Amino acid sequence: RAKFTGKRCLAVFDDAMHASVLKRLQMEASLRSAVKHDELRLEYQPIFDVQTSHIVGLESLVRWQQPSTGLTQPMDFIPLAEETGLIVPIGGWVLEEACRAIGELNAARPGSQDISISVNVSKRQIAEPDFVEQLGATLARHDVHQRQLNLEITESLIMDSPEGIVDRLHEIRKLGVRLYMDDFGTGHSSLSCLHRFPIDVLKIDRSFVSTMETNDDYESIIHAIITLAHNLNTTVIAEGIETAQQLSRLRELECDLGQGYLFSQPKPLAEVLAIVRQHEQQLNGETVVGR
Ligand code: C2E
Ligand code: MG
Ligand code: MG
Ligand code: MG
Repeated sequence: RAKFTGKRCLAVFDDAMHASVLKRLQMEASLRSAVKHDELRLEYQPIFDVQTSHIVGLESLVRWQQPSTGLTQPMDFIPLAEETGLIVPIGGWVLEEACRAIGELNAARPGSQDISISVNVSKRQIAEPDFVEQLGATLARHDVHQRQLNLEITESLIMDSPEGIVDRLHEIRKLGVRLYMDDFGTGHSSLSCLHRFPIDVLKIDRSFVSTMETNDDYESIIHAIITLAHNLNTTVIAEGIETAQQLSRLRELECDLGQGYLFSQPKPLAEVLAIVRQHEQQLNGETVVGR
C-alpha cells in the first residue's frame, strides 16, 4: 500500500517536473534569441533628492516583450539568464541601451549633464575578463561621460564572490563610473563591512521602507544605516517610497535620495523625459499648464 502511494506520488511529481523542465527549456530558447529579435526594452524610474525633489538620476530596469507571451518582468527571467550565462549578452545590451539613453537625455536638456543613469549588473557579467574594457568601450562609443553612468550591484555579489571581485570594483571606479550597492540590508554583509568596499551610494532595500511605518525597529535600522553611511561619506537612497508619510519621515532622518511609486513608476524613456522636463519647469516656478 505504502509502495503504491509512493509510486503514485512519484508519477505526479514526474509529470509536474517534466512540464517545468520543458517550460524552462522553451523559455531558455526564447531568451537566447531575445536580444537578436529586439525583444528587450528598458524602463526608467526617477531618483530624486528627498529634500528638494530635484531629479538627480534614473534607474534603468529591463523588460522582455515577446510578441506571443506579452510582457515579462525581470524577476521572471533574470534568474534564468544568470544561471545560463545569457545575462552576459543581455547585460551587454542593457549597458549599450542605457548609454544611448544618456545621449538622448543630454540632447533633450542641452547644457546640463547633471542626471545620471544607473544600470543593474550581475555577478556573472562583472566577472567576465573583459568587462571593464567593454564598459570603457561602450562609454566611448556613445560619447558618454563616465560620471553619468552608475552600476548597481548587490551585497551578495560582493559577499559570495572570490576576493578578486573587490579589485574589479576598484577598476570600475577608476574608470570614473560610480558604484551603488543595491537592496542593502537583505544580504549577509554587516554595517561594519561597508567601509571595506568601494561603494559611492547605498540603496536601502524597499522592505525596510515599507515596514518603517508599522515597526519602529525598522525605522531605527534605517536611521542607523543613514548615520553610518554619512560618516563614511556615502550617499543614501531609499527604495520603494510609496506614501507621503514615508517620504516625510525619510526627510527627517536626513536620507539623501529616494525612488518609488509615490514619485513615479518606471516608464519608457520618452515618458520619463517628459516628467523630467515638467518637473524642472515646476521647480523653476514656471507655469506648466497649457504647455
Ligand atoms: P532592483 O534593482 O532593486 O529594482 C527595484 C525594483 O523595485 C524594480 O522592480 C522597481 O520597479 C520596483 N519598485 C520601484 N519602486 C517601487 C515601489 O514604490 N513599490 C514597489 N512595490 N516596487 C517598486 P523590477 O523592475 O521588477 O526589477 C526587479 C529586479 O530585477 C531589480 O531590482 C534588479 O535586481 C533586477 N533587474 C532589473 N533590470 C535589470 C538589468 O538590466 N540587469 C540585471 N542584472 N538585473 C536587473
Ligand atoms: Mg537596482
Ligand atoms: Mg534595489
Ligand atoms: Mg530591491
